[in-house]
Amino acid sequence: MTHEGIRFVDKGRQANETEADRPLPRIAVTPEKVRVLLTEGKGLEIDWQDGHRSAWSFAWLREACPCATCVDQRNLEGRKPGQPQPKPAAVLPMYTPPPKPASAHAVGRYAIQFNWLDGHSAGIYSWEYLRRVCQCRECTFAAEEATGTPN
Ligand SMILES: [Zn+2]
Ligand SMILES: [Zn+2]
Repeated sequence: MTHEGIRFVDKGRQANETEADRPLPRIAVTPEKVRVLLTEGKGLEIDWQDGHRSAWSFAWLREACPCATCVDQRNLEGRKPGQPQPKPAAVLPMYTPPPKPASAHAVGRYAIQFNWLDGHSAGIYSWEYLRRVCQCRECTFAAEEATGTPN
């Protein structure tokens, strides 16, 4: 028995590499199971082949739409994916239902697309994109460390 040839994923920090630049291993961006909790209105859950689990609410996903228009809009406003638009205080409060897709479907083998009830459907959410914006405690902590102010 030998462990030769087995390469363990290095969890250590790599110098001069940001979270976004680091290539992800294939098993980290390949879903084992994808659950779209449409009827519950909850969101999207993915079990990845490397054993990691991710979950996002539909509201978060709508604000993280990766289409060019939404990305431009977020960059313009300095928002991160998933960060909602600040509500203008002067506007009369109107009830807006939380974003929800009418349907969702796979795009080839690499992505998922949502048809949002507000009519927007341009965003193609690739597995890699979703894995990179995983909202679990472990990943958000790692992302904060990577973008945090240097000591
Ligand atoms: Zn969009
Ligand atoms: Zn995660």
